[in-house]
Amino acid sequence: MDLYTRLDHIPVGGETILGSPIWTSPGGKGANQAAAAARLGADVRFVGRVGDDEYGQRLRQGLLDAGADVSLLRTGDSPSSVALILLTPDGENSIIVSPSSNQHVSPADVDAAWQPGQPAVGAVVCQLEIPLATVVHASELAQQHGARFVLNAAPAQELPADLVGRADPLVVNESEAEFLLGTTSEAPSHTPETLVRGLLELGSRSVVLTLGGDGAAVGVNGGGFRHVTGFPVPVVDTTGAGDAFVAALVTRLVAGEDLFEAADYANVVGALVVQHEGAQASYPDAAEVEAQIAS
Ligand code: ADP
Repeated sequence: MDLYTRLDHIPVGGETILGSPIWTSPGGKGANQAAAAARLGADVRFVGRVGDDEYGQRLRQGLLDAGADVSLLRTGDSPSSVALILLTPDGENSIIVSPSSNQHVSPADVDAAWQPGQPAVGAVVCQLEIPLATVVHASELAQQHGARFVLNAAPAQELPADLVGRADPLVVNESEAEFLLGTTSEAPSHTPETLVRGLLELGSRSVVLTLGGDGAAVGVNGGGFRHVTGFPVPVVDTTGAGDAFVAALVTRLVAGEDLFEAADYANVVGALVVQHEGAQASYPDAAEVEAQIAS
């Protein structure tokens, strides 16, 4: 659950300041991506954990409202994960994440998706807000069962090579790409193409680099590179745009499109999302995306 408050400035040690009334909104990268994909018409099952608390109920309901299957979303053990988002006038937002229930998402939770009687899995999508061992296990199961494994390596952290090797694609934004490559935006070789090629050299089968208002860059190992140009749109709030992009990308991949076609579609979805306040509240359905493409 995302908890927001507006402040004049971030308090320093020993300081107490007043913030605006807190408002809450269902969030989390995995839940956002599941909700966005379900809104777009994908058949989504969400594996995760929430606390036995009010936030847990609202997070579950948010996924249900979007049309996701929450039968593998477990309740209990520890409180729901919370992100405390401090909004300051300079736009330099600060975020404190209390992982709680997310820390308990286990390899066994993922096994449940492949128990007898469960429907077939076309793609497995992971982010890095749960234990890395669980993500690695999910990637192994995907490989074993012939499902596509998509890794949104966010928030950035060091990754084992075999995990990167299963990603098809690895999806990152620019700062996550720089973290994985150990470069900075000041480096003279910093272009979308060099970043994508650098990430492919880490061993992933394909890479999608999101570039905010500049769209995205796509590279396939041995299969070319393309820049997907961003749409000039009036930006209201970019929260959750990256998550909607990942969701739209996977939705189209599972429907049979290639990575370049899927990225074109995801870029339309990303541009729609930034024109509205909030994350899950701003996600379009397939008809809204089609109307945008036709306009
Ligand atoms: P993240 O939020 O993960 O950092 P990005 O900022 O790269 O991700 O945004 C994800 C996608 O959302 C972009 O690839 C693009 O399609 C869309 N998007 C983001 N910001 C804008 C913008 N200012 N104008 C148009 N589209 C945008």
